Amino acid sequence: MKSFLEFKPLISEKEIQAAVKKLADDIACEYRGKDLVAIGILNGAYMFFADLIRQIEIPVTIGFIQAKSYSGRKTTGVIRIQNGPAGIMENKEVLLVEDIVDSGLTIERLLKEVGKQNPRSIKVCTLLNKKARRQVQVPLDYVGFEVPDKFVVGYGMDFDNQFSNLPFISVFDDSLDSSTD
Ligand code: IMP
Ligand code: MG
Repeated sequence: MKSFLEFKPLISEKEIQAAVKKLADDIACEYRGKDLVAIGILNGAYMFFADLIRQIEIPVTIGFIQAKSYSGRKTTGVIRIQNGPAGIMENKEVLLVEDIVDSGLTIERLLKEVGKQNPRSIKVCTLLNKKARRQVQVPLDYVGFEVPDKFVVGYGMDFDNQFSNLPFISVFDDSLDSSTD
């Protein structure tokens, strides 16, 4: 098992926290005086979501949706959604909070699902944007960082349920991954 010391940060804790603060300030500015409902997309966004909402200095209702499409480093193309919150989004300003947008398929599907609950508006906040791999165009309203076409781990993002507890974001080392491909 690799220790934290063996991972090199692509984005450091300090850079993450500065970006989180900036996103939170922009969100508070846009939604002041409105009924904001922030929805964390589990599992990957759990750490980002917890930090982000603590920095948003206006009232916010929270909920979670679980979406899963990845197995190892590959998207299966099939998005399974669980635990959608019932009844909290109707007529509200919904903000979906994601760790990383890659193909765009998860956000596309979630926009469709959440749309069925009649929110007043839906916007998307993602910490990372991996644009090079986009398969469908999705609107991203708040983006922390653009990242290259590499598989990343840390700060909530996992490889087969491991490494999400790294406090920074790191590129996953190909040499570790003998189980896929
Ligand atoms: P998409 O549907 O292809 O846009 O992928 C979205 C989901 O796949 C994200 O919410 C992540 O949970 C996961 N994912 C995509 N790229 C990575 C990565 O580089 N590391 C860890 N998880 C990823
Ligand atoms: Mg995710």
